[in-house]
Amino acid sequence: MSEISEKFAKLKSSTSRLRNTTAAERTARIQALWEATVDRKDDLIKAAHHERGTHDLDMAAELVMLKSEVDFFKKNLAKWMKPEKIKNSLATMGKKCEIRRQSKGVVLNMAAYNAPTAESFVPMLAAVAAGNAVAIKPSELAPESAQIIQEIVNKAFPTDEAEVFQGGVDVAKELLKQPFDHIYYTGGTAVGKIVMKAAADNLTSITLEMGGKNPVIIDETAKLENAATKLAWGRVMNAGQVCIAPDYAIVHESVKDEFQNLISEKIQEQYNSEQTGLDKSNYVPRIINERHTKRIKALLDDAVKKGATIVSGGTVNLKDCYVEPTILTDVTEDMNIMQEEVFGPILCVVGYQNREDVLKHIAPRTNSLALYIYSTNDSNIEYFLNNTSSGSAVVNNNCIQSGTNPRLPFGGIGASGMGRIGGYEGFRSMSNERSVVHQPLDKFRDFLIQLPPYSDRYAGLIMKGVKK
Ligand code: NAD
Repeated sequence: MSEISEKFAKLKSSTSRLRNTTAAERTARIQALWEATVDRKDDLIKAAHHERGTHDLDMAAELVMLKSEVDFFKKNLAKWMKPEKIKNSLATMGKKCEIRRQSKGVVLNMAAYNAPTAESFVPMLAAVAAGNAVAIKPSELAPESAQIIQEIVNKAFPTDEAEVFQGGVDVAKELLKQPFDHIYYTGGTAVGKIVMKAAADNLTSITLEMGGKNPVIIDETAKLENAATKLAWGRVMNAGQVCIAPDYAIVHESVKDEFQNLISEKIQEQYNSEQTGLDKSNYVPRIINERHTKRIKALLDDAVKKGATIVSGGTVNLKDCYVEPTILTDVTEDMNIMQEEVFGPILCVVGYQNREDVLKHIAPRTNSLALYIYSTNDSNIEYFLNNTSSGSAVVNNNCIQSGTNPRLPFGGIGASGMGRIGGYEGFRSMSNERSVVHQPLDKFRDFLIQLPPYSDRYAGLIMKGVKK
């Protein structure tokens, strides 16, 4: 037995005990996780700074997102755990119908590198709230954070309730062989497919939180300066390493030049206010490693070679893992940058003439994780919402739909993912929603009209049900 399967067996052994824990016991664990996290706040901030050059307040804001989930679970869990009474139908008349949300067993949470703490702990909260044991596999690309995450979990949970498995692909593969009861995965689409195939071998349910190219539509009626201000922030935040970041903007030709100039100015205003250069700014983070910096540079070089124009930015320093916030225009479909999620601080811009063209631009990349619309025309807003598909959408803003309101479920569709996280939806996705019917045994309610040989009364009832 490998060390991983031994630890998995230990987690599995707690299934029935954890399934029967009370809301108070589960919220105590949630609180312990939060307190252990706060105890290591300074270390987490330092780690994010070393790994991605993250500003202290940006890392603290990640913890605030976590706190809002913690508070929401603490406030609502007892209510959510109660069996939900269900109205009767004609066929269940006289019986008592309910839904019981029970734990699934052991949940594996595989996280990405771009927000290691939130990606480890937000799904963990949902899993713990639903009464599961949890295994976390943080990203090996953020090892300092992973180490602290492990120490936090070890402090807040006994090892038969939660374990952290550090390591790379080998550890992930070994974990995926274990018969988990639910797998929650955050990461790229290519690995998402590997996870889904592995889950199929054990018929394990999955939540996939993936990425993709999130479009921004800016029509001719948009408040341009307002849009440019918000998009400068949304694209440069975490150096573009945000799953819901705006990836490319489809801008009405009549306002395209003005928009490109405005967003270039706004990037300077927000990220270079002291005019020491964007590369010296405390607000511009770094790409996670040289390999990813090279990947982004290759996308940029390919686009320029094929005719794209750099409006602003464009510098890359591989050794420093620095990609200058960049506005890239005249981008076309044959460029690699339109085929791949950028996951870096580069906003691609394409022009459009009429709103039907917007749908043509989006068509090769339907089902994005997010979609943003900047417009003051209600008919255009409805048209774009009704004729596109994405996990979430925001009108006249960006990146405000995740981590801000635990009542808004978060997740993707198709290539950007499946399943939802956040508040009650997270709790539900980590629960087995078990329908339970109680049959009273008194003679008025315990009748068996459906037994053969069929009576005329039963035949009448059934045949009545198949009339138009
Ligand atoms: P990734 O797919 O490279 O890695 C994610 C996890 O999978 C890591 O824990 C890694 O160790 C593991 N992994 C890597 N290769 C594997 C393999 N061959 N077999 C098994 N496991 C393997 O993702 P990443 O580069 O760390 O993260 C970036 C991606 O994550 C982007 O596409 C981004 O959009 C997406 N993301 C999505 C969300 C969301 O909530 N939808 C949030 C953050 C990031």
